[in-house]
Amino acid sequence: MAGGRHHLQIPGPTNVPDRVLRAIAAPTIDHRGPAFAALALDLLERLKPVFGTGGPVIIYPSSGTGAWEAALVNTLSPGDRVLACETGHFATLWRDMAERLGLPVEFLPGDWRHGADPDAIAERLAADPAHEIKAVMVVHNETSTGVRSRVPEVRAALDRAGHPALLLVDTISSLGSMDYRHDAWGADVTVGCSQKGLMLPPGLGLNAVSEKALEASRSARLPRSYWDWEPILAANRDGFYPYTPPTNLLYGLREALTMLEEEGLPAVFARHDRHAEATRAAVRAWGLEVLCADPREYSSSLTAVLLPEPHDADKVRRIILERFDMSLGTGLGRLAGRVFRIGHLGRFDDLSLAGTLAGVELGLAAAGVPIERGGVTAALSVLERA
Ligand SMILES: *Cc1c(COP(=O)(O)O)cnc(C)c1O
Repeated sequence: MAGGRHHLQIPGPTNVPDRVLRAIAAPTIDHRGPAFAALALDLLERLKPVFGTGGPVIIYPSSGTGAWEAALVNTLSPGDRVLACETGHFATLWRDMAERLGLPVEFLPGDWRHGADPDAIAERLAADPAHEIKAVMVVHNETSTGVRSRVPEVRAALDRAGHPALLLVDTISSLGSMDYRHDAWGADVTVGCSQKGLMLPPGLGLNAVSEKALEASRSARLPRSYWDWEPILAANRDGFYPYTPPTNLLYGLREALTMLEEEGLPAVFARHDRHAEATRAAVRAWGLEVLCADPREYSSSLTAVLLPEPHDADKVRRIILERFDMSLGTGLGRLAGRVFRIGHLGRFDDLSLAGTLAGVELGLAAAGVPIERGGVTAALSVLERA
């Protein structure tokens, strides 16, 4: 459709605001000069509140996957046992990466409709009196399912077991969209990236690092070079990098942080909670099912919608793309064809949500999925109330 602007309602990459795009278009500067140092020092401070930390945040020129690898290779040694939780496709990919790096992984099974189970974690850690498990890996917001893991309860599970394992948390699709507190929740490495709640194009990977994780990095022996925190932190002290940094994405980051600061993080989180609630109201009014099975675990940045058999979610997505120029998230891994995912994170407002849900409602009807009409109306009622 020749409307001019594509509707990118996948749960990342998200729609990049015009003012961020304009910021990125500024001329690249000398990354060893004083203007760059001022930029970097400013950004490294202003990123901290987004993670809820007073500690260092490392910025890599990478996708989120690179930041996953950085979290592992900086803190662990060959043969270290790690405990991971099968919350969905991204948890499975992170598990696979840990195995490829030579870490024996215990994968607590899950049904892809729930978050990490704090009781199962506590039970497993209690059965490890020798503390052979060195890290627990949790995906805060599982982007393949729209399920939020209860990280504070996972932290409490480690504490209850009196277990010293590091807590590694993937916040790639929740950072800057959903409440998260690296320090208060006792995370050791928090992994993020640019193209989801931070409203940037892909290309920045992030690690927030606790004192305990820094300590672990001093004796960790997995091979690392590019991902090594130490030389980056050393150069960062003066606002520099040991390699050429992605200067233009950093201009974009500066603008995106300004936007988050202008709105205020509590208001940003409340906006995402509200849009998620309105989306779920639409799904229920259509007579369809939200994939997330536990209301305590609803994601606020995306909603995965389960289709009744034998309807193919990718056919619905295809029709919506062709007719309305809108992209929705596909079903990943074992959910292929069974679900589509509505991204409502990043730069987003009430009318964008209403338009998105209108496109979904029209697309479901056009694909012949039996739905009740009135999903958009139900969503508008939620928006009107709030
Ligand atoms: C997008 C995503 C990733 C992967 O990030 P890339 O930038 O594609 O490497 C990992 N984990 C979660 C939860 C994600 O949403």
